[in-house]
Amino acid sequence: MQKALAVISIVFVSLFLMLVALYGAAFFGKFGHGFLCFVCFALFLGIIIAAVLAIQRVFNLPEEDRLRQGHCPECDYNMYGLPELRCPECGWQADDRAAQIIRPQEHASGGK
Ligand SMILES: [Zn+2]
Repeated sequence: MQKALAVISIVFVSLFLMLVALYGAAFFGKFGHGFLCFVCFALFLGIIIAAVLAIQRVFNLPEEDRLRQGHCPECDYNMYGLPELRCPECGWQADDRAAQIIRPQEHASGGK
């Protein structure tokens, strides 16, 4: 539900910015065609980048963000300094992927 709302708001913001760009293009018409193309292109690029970042954030990052901060992805308990990668609060157990995100330095130096 939150994801759907976020996507809808991204789409609406993008449409709104496109509308602003179109009105801006009409207003700045005296600057000529090259300038208009540049403004529209810059706005379009900005919208694409913002949308991609927002979508990435909405779809993958809440869990990985918590892991990177050393927090449990399930309950946000701070797992920093714990001897094992198991959450004492909710019982969540880190798999290999999660362990690499939480403690990349240990996994990078350790062999097989
Ligand atoms: Zn937990």
